[in-house]
Amino acid sequence: MSEQRANDIAEDFRELFGTAPEGVWTAPGRINLIGEHTDYNDGFALPIALPHSLTVAAARRPDGIARLRSRQFDGAFEVRLVDLSPGGVTGWAAYQAGALWTLLDEGYDIGGLDLLVESHIPTGSGLSTSAAVSCATVLAATGLYGAESSSGSPGEPAPAEVARLAQRAENDFVGMPCGIMDQSAVMLADEGRALFLDCRSLETEQVPFDPAAHGMSLLVVDTRAPRRLVEGAYAERRRACEEAARILGVRSLRDVSAGELPEALAALPDDISRRRVRHVVTENARVLEAVALFRAGRPRESGPLFTASHASLRDDYEVSVPEVDTAVTAVLSAGALGARITGGGFGGCVIALVDTENAADCGEVVRAAFAEQGFDEPVVFTALPSTGARRLS
Ligand code: ADP
Ligand code: MG
Repeated sequence: MSEQRANDIAEDFRELFGTAPEGVWTAPGRINLIGEHTDYNDGFALPIALPHSLTVAAARRPDGIARLRSRQFDGAFEVRLVDLSPGGVTGWAAYQAGALWTLLDEGYDIGGLDLLVESHIPTGSGLSTSAAVSCATVLAATGLYGAESSSGSPGEPAPAEVARLAQRAENDFVGMPCGIMDQSAVMLADEGRALFLDCRSLETEQVPFDPAAHGMSLLVVDTRAPRRLVEGAYAERRRACEEAARILGVRSLRDVSAGELPEALAALPDDISRRRVRHVVTENARVLEAVALFRAGRPRESGPLFTASHASLRDDYEVSVPEVDTAVTAVLSAGALGARITGGGFGGCVIALVDTENAADCGEVVRAAFAEQGFDEPVVFTALPSTGARRLS
């Protein structure tokens, strides 16, 4: 399939730009198994890469101009690299432009390029196409220019460094204050494993996660709920956490352990900040428990952690919506081992650990529940942990 994808995008590239691409890269979407809204609190997360991915084809240009195209968005975007500045590009091209700006700002010796994106990741579903686009753009630009950064590290940046550059593009150029989880999953995830990520030290561990070996499937329900208020609410949650950490006198909420939670809650001035802190602290503890179970070869027992994570995100962090709660309730009633919202919230996807023999039934029950509530039909699929971003040709 990758070869077919590479050939297809190369042909489209030739049609659009009149020359052959010099390289093709691929980057996956991601699903976070557990550890939500913890990354910007220096905490823990446990994402996987999806089999769904996007491809990027690119070729150098001698004139310092970037021409950006996307198969999913209309319009041709063209800019001189020297004219790029934070906030200066809005709309679909912002993530690619941001990746190029970040590389230039950090002294990477890149030049002009033509670049085409083709995505096979469901859009508007919270599967982090934005991180896939920005990571693939960093890979393409540094891959083509063999870019050497001003700090002296030669050649292409290491995967974790690509993740950091892509996060910076999103933070500083696009203006979205996201953490490092999405980009780390895109760059570092692997087949048959989940990526245990410590968002403070940036240490990672590949933890075995092979649901089929345990008679399970990872069911994904794309609720297709319109995502509302996403960016403002995200920034507001992040601010609330930072303010709570300041009041508690810690560097970040990562530094509050589950045992210290009662004392921390007593020191906070209002109910909202108490609930936000309770979510982050208990969620970090759930990630550690899930990782311990995965390491021990007992992933089936992590179901209740998923469901507890959902309750916390719904009640304490307040990032769920009716479509998502309906999907979680439906799969649990159909016998799922555990289920939760995944991603930033306010729509997007639900994941459930289900017995493989029960997966089809769970999907049916969700569809029926959505029909009864008058919601748009959800898209239901199963996903296996897949490989991170890489060069295809
Ligand atoms: P997600 O949860 O999927 O990351 P975001 O709202 O964070 O959603 O990111 C969506 C943005 O990612 C789009 O506005 C666009 O800038 C970029 N993007 C997504 N898909 C594509 C694509 N096919 N081509 C170019 N840019 C894309
Ligand atoms: Mg995003």
